[in-house]
Amino acid sequence: MSDAQVEVSEIHWLMDMFQTVDVGLVVLNCDYRIQVWNGFMESHSGLSPRQVRDRYLFDLFPEIDEDWLRRKCDPVLLLKNRAFTIWEQRPYIFKFRNYRPITGSADFMYQNSTIFPLTNTRGEVTNLCLIIYDVTDVAVSRLELESMNHRLHQLSKTDFLTQLHNRGSWENTLVQEYKRIQRHQHVSSLLMIDIDHFKRVNDDYGHAAGDEVIREIAKLVKKNLRETDIAGRYGGEEFAVLLVDTPEAQAMYFAERLRKSVEKTPIRHHEMSIQCSVSIGIAESARSMENHRQWIEQADKALYFSKANGRNRVTLASSMPSEEPETS
Ligand code: GH3
Ligand code: MG
Ligand code: MG
Repeated sequence: MSDAQVEVSEIHWLMDMFQTVDVGLVVLNCDYRIQVWNGFMESHSGLSPRQVRDRYLFDLFPEIDEDWLRRKCDPVLLLKNRAFTIWEQRPYIFKFRNYRPITGSADFMYQNSTIFPLTNTRGEVTNLCLIIYDVTDVAVSRLELESMNHRLHQLSKTDFLTQLHNRGSWENTLVQEYKRIQRHQHVSSLLMIDIDHFKRVNDDYGHAAGDEVIREIAKLVKKNLRETDIAGRYGGEEFAVLLVDTPEAQAMYFAERLRKSVEKTPIRHHEMSIQCSVSIGIAESARSMENHRQWIEQADKALYFSKANGRNRVTLASSMPSEEPETS
């Protein structure tokens, strides 16, 4: 083979490689008009090199954020730098559908890219080249892992039976709220709620029915809450609710509404209809409290006052008769 023939075959091979390589190759001129478009780009965009030749990139792909990409590319043209884009920053440059079966959970192809300058024989930058990498596999596994971790974190804070906060998580929130109240002039209220004669429910209807009652009352608690309120399962059949930025009078209103809705909602379990009630204690936050435990203790005392005075009622800690001094 002559030298010329060797050169021609080499160019031929290069063209073959350029067409079949599993990355996107795009050459743009300084006016962002497409000069070169390889097989990867053709097969994912459905547009042939002829269809895109000399087209203004941002007209052809209006989904590309022009300001953002120019901010990446202008320094490449001016300073002969390299630039990179990563999927964590922007999922893609070109919005291509994702056809990979394994990563079928992604609708589009996640992309990283490298952008570098192309010079003429005088060393002037006349074009830039974009290499587009399909990183869907990596991105999807990372996103799935993150979502799994998030889910695990949520699970570790959630009570399995009721989907309310579990005790630990709820108490953490209370500590945060207590600190906030100490710093600022906010007033919040704490409710302790206990199902009345719950042992009887277990004894008369069975443990599974008891579980159903706990679940249904938790639902009623949730239904009566606002976005900002935080409810937790404090113990077996005890719930605790933090009503943020709520003075006791308003908390009383919430508690009465909840008490009445439990009273008038028979809980169905198989063929059985179970009538329940709850007793509630309310304590408003006070700056004089030394720690969040004192706040819980006050709400607890009010709850036991409700129990001792007939159950199915609400008591405000502030309206309880003060304890009698011991007589000798
Ligand atoms: P009171 O009106 O004084 O609150 O009476 P009570 O019968 O509700 O008394 P207490 O609060 O002491 O009893 C709670 C019972 O709840 C004891 C326990 O067997 C039952 N329990 C605790 N956790 C669960 C649970 O997850 N599921 C079921 N089914 N029962 C539970
Ligand atoms: Mg109890
Ligand atoms: Mg009880």
